[in-house]
Amino acid sequence: MACNCDDACRDLHLYLDGEATVAVRTAISAHLECCPSCADAFHFEAQVRLVVARCCCEEPVPESLRVRVLQAIYTADP
Ligand SMILES: [Zn+2]
Repeated sequence: MACNCDDACRDLHLYLDGEATVAVRTAISAHLECCPSCADAFHFEAQVRLVVARCCCEEPVPESLRVRVLQAIYTADP
């Protein structure tokens, strides 16, 4: 399977929101296995969501925060 980080990055959110189709989830799982940087991003994003959901389940996550977090992930690449 070809690694396509743009697709994986976009579909990551569907996956985490539980809105991805089975086909998309399968593709993401396959991509995460062959792409450590996307796997890191996935786990980081999943953890952020967990913390956010726990701390402020009443509050929607601001898009600006999401963007900042994702930028931090992708600019922190070794
Ligand atoms: Zn990737």
